[in-house]
Amino acid sequence: MCVEKTPWEQVIDFHGHTCPEIALGYRVAQIAMRELGIKPTPSAELKVTAQTHSCALDAFQVLNHATYGRGALIVEEQGQHNYMFEYTGTTVRVFITINPEILDHLVIPKDLSSRREVQNATLEAIQFLLSSEESMFCSIQKE
Ligand SMILES: [Zn+2]
Repeated sequence: MCVEKTPWEQVIDFHGHTCPEIALGYRVAQIAMRELGIKPTPSAELKVTAQTHSCALDAFQVLNHATYGRGALIVEEQGQHNYMFEYTGTTVRVFITINPEILDHLVIPKDLSSRREVQNATLEAIQFLLSSEESMFCSIQKE
């Protein structure tokens, strides 16, 4: 039997490891798709502009098909987890800003002694990032 991979599994496969930042990207990618709605024309491409470089970007490459190679993923480094999504040929833009309290959960404490502790802290952070209330997770602005 061939079981299709879930979107989460596809993202993790592509990214190469499981980490809090990829969970953040996964959630942002899904919120963006919901807010943008359906693709306006067959030739429209989703473009993402990120204000920081992080693991999160790989989720956009998989889920939004906004690949770096095609120039659909742009990073303007400002050290901030702010993301803008837009379809080419349209004027609608969706801005997603991650709330500052959420960012604390991206960092796994350095003083953990065992691999297991690190693993547990990582899983806890991912769980938190994926399940926190959306209003607590980010703010969304449409233009
Ligand atoms: Zn990562």
